[in-house]
Order: sequence, then structure tokens, then C-alpha cells
Amino acid sequence: MDCNDDQESNGESLRDHRCCVVADGAIIVGAGPSGLAVAACLKAKGVPCLVLERARCVASLWQLKTYDRLRLHLPRKFCELPFMPFPRGLPTYPTKKQFVSYLEAYAEAFGIRPEFDATVGSAEYDRGVWRVIAEGSEGERKEYVSRWLVVATGENAEAVAPRIEGMGEFKGSVVHTSMYKSGDVYRGKRILVVGCGNSGMEVCLDLFDHNARPSIVVRDTVHVLPREMLGISTFGLSMWLLKWFPIRAVDRLLLLLARLALGDTARLGLNRPWLGPLELKSLTGKTPVLDIGTLAKIRSGHIKVFPAIRRFTKNGAEFVDGRLEDFDAVVLATGYKSNVPAWLKEQGLFSENDGLPKRPFPNGWKGENGLYAVGFTKRGLLGASIDATRIANDIERIWKTQH
Ligand SMILES: Cc1cc2nc3c(=O)[nH]c(=O)nc-3n(C[C@H](O)[C@H](O)[C@H](O)COP(=O)(O)OP(=O)(O)OC[C@H]3O[C@@H](n4cnc5c(N)ncnc54)[C@H](O)[C@@H]3O)c2cc1C
Repeated sequence: MDCNDDQESNGESLRDHRCCVVADGAIIVGAGPSGLAVAACLKAKGVPCLVLERARCVASLWQLKTYDRLRLHLPRKFCELPFMPFPRGLPTYPTKKQFVSYLEAYAEAFGIRPEFDATVGSAEYDRGVWRVIAEGSEGERKEYVSRWLVVATGENAEAVAPRIEGMGEFKGSVVHTSMYKSGDVYRGKRILVVGCGNSGMEVCLDLFDHNARPSIVVRDTVHVLPREMLGISTFGLSMWLLKWFPIRAVDRLLLLLARLALGDTARLGLNRPWLGPLELKSLTGKTPVLDIGTLAKIRSGHIKVFPAIRRFTKNGAEFVDGRLEDFDAVVLATGYKSNVPAWLKEQGLFSENDGLPKRPFPNGWKGENGLYAVGFTKRGLLGASIDATRIANDIERIWKTQH
């Protein structure tokens, strides 16, 4: 393999690129929890790797794009990365700061030093190797070459902000949750939160806690479950029940317990989907909301619920039920998407439509020609750890035959 082969790639000569690095082991794109987990698993097996990260820190989603009050949604034992438990004494749901500290310590413990400020703009399989081109914020470009390419750019790489009619006319501020830090700046203001996933519901609570006046748009059906049931985490209870009972039976039990704990959410404007929460998650990836107190504020009338927006007006929004309401600002809790189709020139493993692996868990981690995907299972950090272990085992097998 020669880095300096004069060849055409995307219509341009690779000689245009200032520098070329031949990676000894695998190239991992993304230094979030998934990328770090693969790097650690490879290092533990003596396989070198090079991690490319567009930000200037590890876990940039957690460090730069999340709100201050965020804690892990799931208990910490389900969020540990391979080989390293959380430090003793941490709460069941560690704060974002505690989680970031854990990830920084994880990178340190395994000697993982990503190349920061390296945004991968293209990756292509070419004559037995992956050629990856990354660009820094000053416009400098580098080419990296390896037999193995691990995609760890995440399900949440880019914010999704829908265009809604009239949005340009609205004179208040509109921000995505990736830019929202705290309700402090919204004190006394009327805020419309668009989207009722875990982030939207929690942002509403944060706004209420900061004396703002939040309303939430609930366009689709949604499963809201208490974060704990029968004294244990709903997630943990579900995992345990699934070992013994079929998914539909577990769903029926969860919904019964949720009804006892939360009452009929439909009466609050939060209609439940036809499928149960776990079956829906496994078929569509849609995560149930784990309630941490928002529902009580909806019930008490402190957080208002609205259906889908028909259009924005200068001072607020008109909803599909005809109601018109004034707002000072809008927070879009409308989620994220993968950015893989924008840079990976390959159509076997990833879908062009949503940038996620075409094959569902547990079969979406491996493609052709040394290509891997980690952290795209819709199963959070637990799924990422499972992927990471598999990928490292697979690469090690080939590595060993050659070294
Ligand atoms: C608010 C919120 C709360 C969550 N809570 C939990 C929880 O409690 N438990 C749980 O299991 N999961 C949770 N999740 C899911 C979350 O996706 C995972 O926790 C975790 O961050 C996924 O790790 P990842 O490494 O796959 O992706 P990310 O953390 O998104 O990391 C991907 C990295 O790739 C980098 N990158 C992207 N594109 C490029 C490129 N082209 N070139 C170079 N680098 C690139 C990004 O900058 C980023 O650093 C939560 C998600 C959100 C948004």
C-alpha cells in the first residue's frame, strides 16, 4: 500500500492533500463513548488504532451539546464501557459531569489520544485499503489509510431542526436542544418546546424549575413510563423480565404498572402508541420517555400540552386544533440524525436514507472489506459496548495472522 499513489478519488488527485498517514492498525472515526470503547478493546488486545474526532475533546455530544441538568437516563451499571466500572460512590444516575469525567479517565487509562479537530469528509475503499480524508478547522487536509475502518460517529451526529411554516416570521428565538444549556435565560418567558422525547420532557421541567412558562408540542403518540417501578429502574426491571417472559407480556405488565403510577396519560394529551413500549422500541427504535417529574407538572397545569403546530405566527404559533398562542421563544427537541451518508462512500452496511446499519441489532456491526459500525444499535451505551467487543475480536483475528 502506498499513500502517495497518484490516483483519482472523487474526481481529485490525492496529491492535493497535504499529508498522508498510514495507520498501523484500525482507523476509528469518532471519539464518543463508542469510539473510545472500540479503541480500548483493541488496545487491550495489542492492536493499535488511530481515532479521528472533529471536536477538540472526547465525548463532544456530552460535553458540548447537552443541557446542564442532564444525568444518564439509564442506571450507571447499564452505561459502563468495557473493562472499566464507574468509580465507587457515584449515584445510580450519574450527572453529565460525572459521566464526562468517567470517559476522560477511560481514554487516559487506555492511552487513547485521538487526533482532534479532524472532521472526516470522505472515506472510500480503494484497492484493499480504506482511504479517509479529514479536514481541520483551518482547512488543512490529511489522508489516512488503513485496512480497517470503524464508524463511531453516532446516531446523534447532526441536530434535526424541521422547517415549519411561518418559522421565519416568528420574532422570538428558536434553538435546538443541542444549544440549550439551562432555563436560566428564559425566566418569566413563555417557551414552546417542540418534541416530547426524553430531552423535550426534561427541558420543560428545567424551564419550569427556572420560573419560565413552558408548553410542549406532542404531535405523535408516546409511551411515558416512570423511571423506577417497584423500587427498581424500569430499564433494569424490563431487562430482567425479558429473560423469562415474551416481550408482549412484559409490555402489558409495564403498562399496568405505569397506569398505577402515572394514571391515564391520554387524559393529559399524551396518547400511547398501539404497540407496547418494548415492542415499539425493538421494531422502530423509538425510546419510551422515562418520566422524572414532568408529568406531575403537566397534571398540575404548570406545563401546557399542545398538538402539532400548523404554522408559526409573528408572536407565537397556531396549532392543528385551531388554538393560537403567544410565545417568547421556541426550543426544538426534535432529535438528531446520523451523518454517515455525507462522508462514507459505501452502500452495503449503511442505509443512504437514515445513515444507520441496514441490518438490525445484533447484525449491523460488520460490513465488507474491514468496515465496522459501533454505536448504531438504538440500544445506547450497552449496545455500543457489545458492538465494540465484537469488532475488536474480529479485527484481532486478522491482525494475529499477519503479525
Ligand atoms: C440527551 C441524551 C441523553 C442520553 N442518555 C443516555 C443514557 O443515559 N444511556 C445511554 O445508554 N445512552 C444515552 N444517550 C444515547 C447516546 O447516544 C449515547 O449515550 C452515546 O453518546 C453514544 O455514543 P457514540 O460514541 O455512539 O456517539 P456520540 O456520543 O454522538 O459520539 C460520536 C462522536 O463522533 C464525532 N463525529 C461525528 N461525525 C464526525 C466526522 N465526520 N468526523 C470526525 N468525528 C465525527 C462527534 O463529534 C462525536 O464526538 C443519550 C443521548 C442524548 C442525546
